[in-house]
Amino acid sequence: MGAGPMKLSLLGSTGSIGTQTLDVMRFHGMRPAALAAGRNIRLLEEQAREFSPSLCCVADEKAGRLLKTALGDTAVTVRYGGESLLEAARFEGCGRVLNALPGLPGLRPTLAALDAGRELLLANKESLTCGGALVTKRAQTPILPVDSEHSAIFQCLQGGRQGIRRLILTASGGAFRGRTREMLRDVTPQMALCHPNWDMGAKVTVDSATLLNKGLELLEAMHLFGLPPEKISVVVHPQSIVHSLVEYTDGAMLAQLGRPDMRIPISYALGYPERMENNDESLDFFSQAKDLTFEKPDADTFICLRLARDAIKDEDSSYPIVLNAANEVLVKLFLDKKIEFLDIQHNIERILAKHNPEYGLGVEGILEIDKGVRREIENDYC
Ligand code: MG
Repeated sequence: MGAGPMKLSLLGSTGSIGTQTLDVMRFHGMRPAALAAGRNIRLLEEQAREFSPSLCCVADEKAGRLLKTALGDTAVTVRYGGESLLEAARFEGCGRVLNALPGLPGLRPTLAALDAGRELLLANKESLTCGGALVTKRAQTPILPVDSEHSAIFQCLQGGRQGIRRLILTASGGAFRGRTREMLRDVTPQMALCHPNWDMGAKVTVDSATLLNKGLELLEAMHLFGLPPEKISVVVHPQSIVHSLVEYTDGAMLAQLGRPDMRIPISYALGYPERMENNDESLDFFSQAKDLTFEKPDADTFICLRLARDAIKDEDSSYPIVLNAANEVLVKLFLDKKIEFLDIQHNIERILAKHNPEYGLGVEGILEIDKGVRREIENDYC
């Protein structure tokens, strides 16, 4: 297998998607030209020594100084701070950027990559959930999704986009599927972090337990595929084998199936439009896919799906930004044991209800709203 058509800049290299991306690249002998991470200097140094990128970027000056010293005997250029992420996103010679940064700080690098004409492989949800209108307007080539559901739909759509009746996002149902509200009263962070199928970062695992992850993915799908939310359904599929589906006007449905392993969608995006090999075993129908079941999401217990749908009723409004910011802070408070699990959804609902929406915001406006919501919740709890 060749080294891929274009060099890659990998943003968020020490996180869950970042490290799995490097697993896939290692297997294929591919080398990223730039790596960006937050403050995990130890791992970034290790990655830089293994892959010899030209550029490494970290979050702040302190981390930058540490990394510069650690890599003093190498030819790697070290940069730090928010601006360095933009530099990595536009890094010369990189035709492609894989953005796996966590949270809203991923938005600017996404825009920088697109403005520089780079092909974007996107794992940063907030680029679309908060900046969807800005991002899709600037994309000159299709954005390659690195989210299992959206990769599944993208793959199903390779035959054409004519006659789509609806998209169907599958959801595992998360750690608390089947529980009543009563049973959720005293669940702990530890319980929420036990995802039945996927091995992911803490924030997205809690989002999966509240079902807000699927709400955010609904927004992502709407922007990625240019369809209104009423044409996107959500079905709970506890085995996470069917990663999502497309239904056409004639009633035909196409689905993408596979083991729940993020390296598959990562590999698809890295190799696109070709498919790359891996040496893992095929899905075993008779053990792993013996019983594939589908359920309706329990919208009375888990209200986040409805909150997400409500947030996108008004086109290009600031509600999704509020939803995202509130959720991020509340999930952190829950993980720090400062609030209960159900407080996450109740507080998101409360904060959305009193928000005065703004419309058609630019990057500055988006960041301003985000900051305001965080400040407000932190004032209440910290
Ligand atoms: Mg997903």
